[in-house]
Amino acid sequence: MLGGATAQAMIKRNESAWQSFFALLDDPSEDPSPPGYWGNEEDGRTLQTYVRNDAYDIQWGERSRLDIRVGQDLKEEFEMGYYERLRLDVRGNPHWDGKSGRLTIEYDDIDDTFRVYQPVTVAVDPGSESAGDEIAALDLGVNTLVACSTTTGRRYLYHGRDLFERFRETTEEIARLRNQLEDGQNTSRRIRRLYRTRSRRRDHAVDACVRDLVERLSDCGIRTVVVGDLSADFPVTGSSRANEMVHNFWSYGELTDQLRNVCEEQGITVESRSEAGTSQQCPDCGQAERTCRHQSTLTCACGFEGHADLVASRNLLTRRIDNRTIARPMARPVRFQWDNHEWRSTTDASQSPTNSARTRKMSL
Ligand SMILES: [Zn+2]
Repeated sequence: MLGGATAQAMIKRNESAWQSFFALLDDPSEDPSPPGYWGNEEDGRTLQTYVRNDAYDIQWGERSRLDIRVGQDLKEEFEMGYYERLRLDVRGNPHWDGKSGRLTIEYDDIDDTFRVYQPVTVAVDPGSESAGDEIAALDLGVNTLVACSTTTGRRYLYHGRDLFERFRETTEEIARLRNQLEDGQNTSRRIRRLYRTRSRRRDHAVDACVRDLVERLSDCGIRTVVVGDLSADFPVTGSSRANEMVHNFWSYGELTDQLRNVCEEQGITVESRSEAGTSQQCPDCGQAERTCRHQSTLTCACGFEGHADLVASRNLLTRRIDNRTIARPMARPVRFQWDNHEWRSTTDASQSPTNSARTRKMSL
């Protein structure tokens, strides 16, 4: 139902894709592929369209809605009034105020949902730029996707268990279907679809996790993120944790790349450091020999008890600040669960609205 302005936006988008292709052709270090068709039904297609920034409005409130301008021909065809616009309900909350850019509407066939991405250009608050040299440390894993401790005393836990279970179930289903294939056949349409669904679900959740966390960190003045370096362990088979991640679920390299990209948008520096021993050391008495881990809990003979992954991130943090103690008391950790759309806090986490990030995301 989108009108002429949309056709124009599509043509512009197409033009810029070809222009960058031809520009890269002249660069001997690049090997560009021409802009492609967005898939087909069998391999999965991306249904996507654009709405020019002057052709839509979003009203935020109790019942948020998106109004899109529609051309006269379409109004007649769909019996809409002369001043009427295509009106859609929107779910989601804006985090930033700023000048609206070109809207992207994308159909997610796995969630059967239309998603809208709205870039906004924001004025950077000079106060937040200079605020603080605060540091956060992250421990990455599978059961806990990310555990984070900060020098501001905040702590975050993103639970990965459900996500991983779902990934594993799909993997088992793929194996079952493979066993049923006829001789000489090594894949099927259904198997290809499951692979695609599996990785898109995971990527969607991991991407959302990185964005959610980095925005929170940026808001409380974090300028440096330290992440445990597992890549050194990769060729070593003894590192079962690294192997578990590499082979089963997500790739450490992809996650840290994503982290670097999102941090860069927020002006945050990412450092990687060896995390050797961080998950065994007691944060209270500093001993590593007296601790014992049972499931996600680390206990120490000195009486300490805490979440093992949070302990690991906290040890990484204290090493980064040269074993000085963190000045502020540690707040109760904020825990997040993935609900297939967003990371929801399972504890109270009243957060101030952020004013520094760049893309709003909503669902129609
Ligand atoms: Zn201890």
